[in-house]
Amino acid sequence: MTELAAPVRASVAAPVPGAGGVAPAARGRGAATSGPAEADWSAAVAAIREHAPAGRVLLICHVNPDGDALGSMLGFGLGLRRMGVSQVQATFPGEFEVPEPFVALPGMDLLVPEPQAYPDPDLVIVFDVAAESRLGGLVDRLAPAKAAVVLDHHASNTGFGGINLVDAEAAATSVVAEELLSRLGVPLDAGIAECLYVALATDTGSFKFDMTTPRVHEMAARLIATGIRPGDISRRIFDTRPFGAMKLFAEVLARAALDPTAAGGHGMVWTHVTQADLERHGQRPYVMDALIDPVRTVAEADVAVLVKQLGEAEWAVSLRSKGAVDVSAVAVAMGGGGHRLAAGFTGYGTPGDVVVAVREKLDQFLI
Ligand code: AMP
Ligand code: MN
Ligand code: MN
Repeated sequence: MTELAAPVRASVAAPVPGAGGVAPAARGRGAATSGPAEADWSAAVAAIREHAPAGRVLLICHVNPDGDALGSMLGFGLGLRRMGVSQVQATFPGEFEVPEPFVALPGMDLLVPEPQAYPDPDLVIVFDVAAESRLGGLVDRLAPAKAAVVLDHHASNTGFGGINLVDAEAAATSVVAEELLSRLGVPLDAGIAECLYVALATDTGSFKFDMTTPRVHEMAARLIATGIRPGDISRRIFDTRPFGAMKLFAEVLARAALDPTAAGGHGMVWTHVTQADLERHGQRPYVMDALIDPVRTVAEADVAVLVKQLGEAEWAVSLRSKGAVDVSAVAVAMGGGGHRLAAGFTGYGTPGDVVVAVREKLDQFLI
């Protein structure tokens, strides 16, 4: 569920938008190495001012949405409402199930299942999506729209939008969303702030990961100043799960294996969780996402791998590194994506097949 962004510049003040970045001309597809260019911010603001007030606006985040995907999308949607935009929907591809920790997010009434999403929106805004493959069938909504704006922070973003606001140094997509709301003149309120805070807290692992910069805490301070309750929010998002999930965790962690010689001697720890495990404990698939966190605490392994069953021989694979390996390179080589220290892909065969494939790739991508 959590994500790590690319290495973060040590900025001490709120960044000057567009300053110090790569010249717009140098920022081609797939070359998102710094914040959005000033021209892209202006284009996004102009597109929203032109098409949102009287048009149908469709917000889309990635399949199997996490806290950043949902939080940045719903927070921005509430901001559009504050601007007086009346036709706003938010959606994501695939099965319409919101993980339990996020069902109480403000703005949930903006959400509609994929089949009910406007077939012909005037404006599409996409959140936390690095590549079109993460949009499933909703990718069809982009071409007919008068404008398609992408807000993201994955270094691997392919630049698939008409207007791409990609900041690979941002800790979460909600950092980009907050900046865009500010440029639109929308003030933060508690509802918007709660959504953006959940996104920021999720992607920084509760403000624990390396990209927890002054910029991150400055944004958190602005959000908390609206009156939201960080303690309540954190308990709901990170520290609450059903009893059955705890029992499931115990079983899955008990079957973990460690090889300190893998990844060039940096070590690898792995485990897997099946649909049958979920059924036995009466749990929904989203609970599997939090399992990577205890696995990655293992001292003897730089790399942690969690293999989660999607279908008969299909697995969602989560990869984490403490720094010795660029796991996004491994994930990309396996057809997936992500960040340097947190990435994923879809694997096939048995869990053993998937783990062998990861082990083989790991040695190639030692940092
Ligand atoms: P997860 O392990 O699911 O928390 O994902 C970690 C990171 O990898 C996130 O940035 C995801 O966006 C990315 N990721 C996970 N699975 C995939 C995939 N199948 N394709 C592309 N990116 C992925
Ligand atoms: Mn995400
Ligand atoms: Mn994110």
